[in-house]
Amino acid sequence: MKPRQLAYLDALGIDAYESRAAVRSRPASGPAPPTSPQAAAQDGGSAGASGLDTLDWAALRARVAACTACELHRTRTQTVFGVGSEQAEWLVIGEAPGAEEDRQGEPFVGRAGQLLNSMLRAIGLERGEVYIANILKCRPPGNRDPKPEEALCCTPYLARQIALLRPKIILAVGRIAAQTLLATAVPLARLRGQVHRYGAFATPLVVTYHPAYLLRSPGEKRKAWADLKLARSVLAGRA
Ligand code: SF4
Repeated sequence: MKPRQLAYLDALGIDAYESRAAVRSRPASGPAPPTSPQAAAQDGGSAGASGLDTLDWAALRARVAACTACELHRTRTQTVFGVGSEQAEWLVIGEAPGAEEDRQGEPFVGRAGQLLNSMLRAIGLERGEVYIANILKCRPPGNRDPKPEEALCCTPYLARQIALLRPKIILAVGRIAAQTLLATAVPLARLRGQVHRYGAFATPLVVTYHPAYLLRSPGEKRKAWADLKLARSVLAGRA
């Protein structure tokens, strides 16, 4: 392990030697039959965002910026489209913008964003090398959970982003992202530690905790580290 990675693991509060415990990877499990809003996340179908299939990045960004398909447009400062390399192999998907993301127009900023950056660096990735997006492009007031109808309206945008990006690995961070993408109500703890498949290209998908949760529950950082290593192994063809 490189000194720089050790430094970041230290910053995460993770012991590098304990963290070498093997992560068991079970065979890929397919998602349950799609049901809304998860179906929209899987296949791009939508009540609120149709006709996305031919849009390039710029046109898709413009569509999102002008979107009024659900109530959240009334309370947003701006839409939060996503950030990162459009050639990225890694796609990180979170839940929805928070207050700071709503202000800055970028996902995963603030303390949770800094922790995500540290997590990525621990596996040798700079933030700009991955693509980061959310299930919802607008902030739910008070940081409440997304409503199913909001996810139904918004996830086709994410589906188009995924179709444009064609990532080699998806990291779903947090319960909402994991359950929406995998079309399941299974608790996050049971979705971790295995390789799922997403969408038409059966893209490998690994589930981990949201950095905001890890800030509240630092004892879970070792599990998040294990998840990251699993994802890295999948990309390297070792899992
Ligand atoms: Fe449109 Fe998504 Fe924002 Fe709702 S959350 S207004 S669907 S961009």
